[in-house]
Amino acid sequence: MAVYHGPRCKLCRREGVKLVLRGERCNSEKCAMDRRPFPPGLRTTKRRRSSTEYNAQLREKQKIRRIYGVMERQFARYFSSASKAEGVTGERLLQILELRLDNIIYRLGFAPSRSCARLLVRHGHFLVAGKKVSLPTFQAKAGDVIAVREKSRNIQTIHSALKNAKDIPDWLSVDKVKLEGTVIRVPERSSMAVNVQEQLVVELYSR
Ligand code: SF4
Repeated sequence: MAVYHGPRCKLCRREGVKLVLRGERCNSEKCAMDRRPFPPGLRTTKRRRSSTEYNAQLREKQKIRRIYGVMERQFARYFSSASKAEGVTGERLLQILELRLDNIIYRLGFAPSRSCARLLVRHGHFLVAGKKVSLPTFQAKAGDVIAVREKSRNIQTIHSALKNAKDIPDWLSVDKVKLEGTVIRVPERSSMAVNVQEQLVVELYSR
């Protein structure tokens, strides 16, 4: 599974918004968007971007991809299944992204960032409905219980992330003592705390 390994702060600077890709660093004074809030390669906040409709749609797609750490082809596959599913395509697309196991681990507060969550999942530290799952792209469903495996309960990264965790979304619940969380329901758009305009992505793929 392809993953972006380049400098993550550059992605925020490229999009001109804090994408919160590096856990605690994003809330510290080290955040590159606070220190250098202009695109990589420029020395000014003035952007050379054209403001065409296409550009706005493309940038929004890139922003969503980067927030969830999804590569181009995988994202296109997600869009394809979202467009075939019932309901609003943009909302369905975000639901697919939110229900990825790595995102849920991050949302539950078991990891400081999605990239860290992805590594923890890959290393097999979690059970979903009692079974070990080491696929970050695994799609969870309503009712799934996600737990830290017995042998992984002493991992410091998980404990310090949980300590700093706040704002657990209302479609998830977490038990910090048992080190497990539950997907209460599939999130509706208003419960997904992600500041993007998914409709622009739908328009982009409809061209
Ligand atoms: Fe983005 Fe976080 Fe880097 Fe700030 S510290 S630029 S929010 S990845």
